[in-house]
Amino acid sequence: MQIRENHNIKALNTFGLSAHARYFCSLHKLGGLRSIMQWADTYPELPVMFLGGGSNMLFVKDFPGLLVHVRLQDREILGQDDDYFYVRAAAGENWHEFVRWTVDQNLAGLENLSLIPGTVGAAPMQNIGAYGVELKDCFYELQALDWRSGEIREFSLEACRFGYRDSYFKSVEPGRWLIVSVVFRLPRKPEWKTDYAGVKERLVGKVLNARVISDAIISIRQSKLPDPARLGNAGSFFKNPLIPLAQWESLKVQFPTISGWPQGNKIKTSAGWLIDQCGWKGKREGDAGTYDKHALVLVNHGSASGEQIWDFAQSIIASVQDSFGITLEPEPRVIL
Ligand SMILES: Cc1cc2nc3c(=O)[nH]c(=O)nc-3n(C[C@H](O)[C@H](O)[C@H](O)COP(=O)(O)OP(=O)(O)OC[C@H]3O[C@@H](n4cnc5c(N)ncnc54)[C@H](O)[C@@H]3O)c2cc1C
Repeated sequence: MQIRENHNIKALNTFGLSAHARYFCSLHKLGGLRSIMQWADTYPELPVMFLGGGSNMLFVKDFPGLLVHVRLQDREILGQDDDYFYVRAAAGENWHEFVRWTVDQNLAGLENLSLIPGTVGAAPMQNIGAYGVELKDCFYELQALDWRSGEIREFSLEACRFGYRDSYFKSVEPGRWLIVSVVFRLPRKPEWKTDYAGVKERLVGKVLNARVISDAIISIRQSKLPDPARLGNAGSFFKNPLIPLAQWESLKVQFPTISGWPQGNKIKTSAGWLIDQCGWKGKREGDAGTYDKHALVLVNHGSASGEQIWDFAQSIIASVQDSFGITLEPEPRVIL
């Protein structure tokens, strides 16, 4: 296993930020882990981090430890019962290619999550979601390796504690578990989720199946979101904030067009709307900015540094706080 020193990871993060990992290695086979872990044992203080597609990361600084690029490949249909097909994919599989592969196998359930960048292994980290579906809706179990002991453990749906852009791996024990593979449970009798704004309109007159819906989602996403290959970004930069009901009711009086959806005993409101109202859509400071079609997406127009993107994000947070009394929380992992 080759461990590189001071490795530039500009090509490995979708913001296209020039940053370095002090140590870097690519993990293609699980068998290769033993030698990496033995090497890491000799540097007990060295932080370790796992990298998939780098589409949910903001490198404000270089990473001062060992960055393990997870490249494990494999996908298979495991079997079926009366209600579901069971499909497994290794962590390094490209998420969108995996979704399209399930569609090619006439399997349904993941179609609304088409075209989300990144890998299968990172998808449970923040319980990826889009167009009314979250990963947890089709999740069965995952296998993860404990970086401390080398033991592989299975995590059920309950054990993963999925929440809105959240999981056990993200909030409770970040950095401890390397997700190795994920098993999905795909329904034999799918219920199509087409109520999300903009989806139904694209499907008028079409016979619904996973491919038709996946194609529609791809086309909507391509019209709304910047392609990281052309304009660096990490998708939505802020989570939609959850606010107490009383605060929501008072905001609704002041700002009648604010939108919100009940989530438990709180209201989830649109971070994009809040940012837009503060006049940030399409704004730019140097090469850091927001996308002109979507205020929630921070972009790198070319040669912004991680610090410039982060400073820009801080200005947005301060401005939304001033105007609405709401503190926005970044969605990507920020390396400070
Ligand atoms: C244009 C665009 C659109 C997007 N749209 C959406 C969307 O609709 N919905 C959504 O939820 N997200 C969206 N995202 C965010 C992102 O694509 C997802 O969060 C994706 O799952 C990140 O995958 P990744 O492999 O790139 O993860 P990375 O950015 O490499 O890593 C993200 C986190 O996961 C950890 N990690 C990575 N692999 C592993 C592993 N095998 N084991 C343990 N930890 C690991 C990393 O350490 C890090 O903490 C979008 C991003 C972009 C650029």
